[in-house]
Amino acid sequence: MDVYGLLGNPVGHSLSPPMHEAAYEELGLEARYVTFEPDADRETLERAIDGARALGVRGLNVTIPFKRDALAFVEPDDLAERIGAVNTIDLSGSGTPTGHNTDAIGALRALRDHGVMIEGATAVVVGAGGAGRAIAFGLADAGATVSIANRTESTARDLADAVPEASGHGLEELPDLLAEADVLVNATSVGMEEDASPVPAEALRGDLAVMDAVYRPLETRLLREAADAGATTIDGAWMLLYQGVEALEIWTGEEAPVDAMNDALRARL
Ligand code: NAP
Repeated sequence: MDVYGLLGNPVGHSLSPPMHEAAYEELGLEARYVTFEPDADRETLERAIDGARALGVRGLNVTIPFKRDALAFVEPDDLAERIGAVNTIDLSGSGTPTGHNTDAIGALRALRDHGVMIEGATAVVVGAGGAGRAIAFGLADAGATVSIANRTESTARDLADAVPEASGHGLEELPDLLAEADVLVNATSVGMEEDASPVPAEALRGDLAVMDAVYRPLETRLLREAADAGATTIDGAWMLLYQGVEALEIWTGEEAPVDAMNDALRARL
């Protein structure tokens, strides 16, 4: 029996166990996906990763609040190193575990899956926290010109300094930025707790593709207003799905059964 898992705090409402276990069943793998909730400090995180390795756990996802700190305890790939965060650890080798960031590729796959062309596109990422960083690097690496708008403008500017060809802005610049954009991604938590959007509805247009990283609720105010404007909308469960798909493929080397994972995820949202 192979064991995979999620390190986070809290992890109680995670959708990863049913999503990954649906894949194991579909692939005929004898495996389990378990959630672990260590105390939220670096020392405990290091012991948790070492302990998982000692116990033969083959792979870990990492979520809040450990994504940045986990970088210190793995051999990160180039993208995870540049993003500054790890959400997937491969423990199957004999040396130091390797660290990856599948949020970036997950966001790209979600967009491409909906027919969005990224190479040569002009993209606006709202938010410059963990999700915003991953999405901004992912889009820029795939050939988009990226503008990052954030409530705390200095954070957007700092991120833009690290992302190729990117620029950083305050939220008040969103209408001007969106007038030129092809793609908009919300990577803030706005819309999760309350019926609010970080983007003024008047700035949305029918020829935009709009993705929200928020997946609870699935239909955020931003996506509702984007649909009203005639835009293509992509909910946050697609990014969640594809970050899991990428993690599973890193761990098992098998092609992930995307439909089974998607069904398991959406049945719980
Ligand atoms: P984070 O690191 O805490 O960053 C939060 C971001 O939201 C920051 O840019 C912050 O701006 C902004 N923000 C928070 N409250 C705001 C408000 N009232 N008005 C404007 N901006 C506000 O969080 P994260 O890990 O990036 O997660 C962000 C969202 O993405 C969450 O909803 C999370 O569930 C979702 N997410 C989804 C996936 C997926 O697979 N679908 C993956 C990762 C994350 P400041 O810098 O000004 O504080």
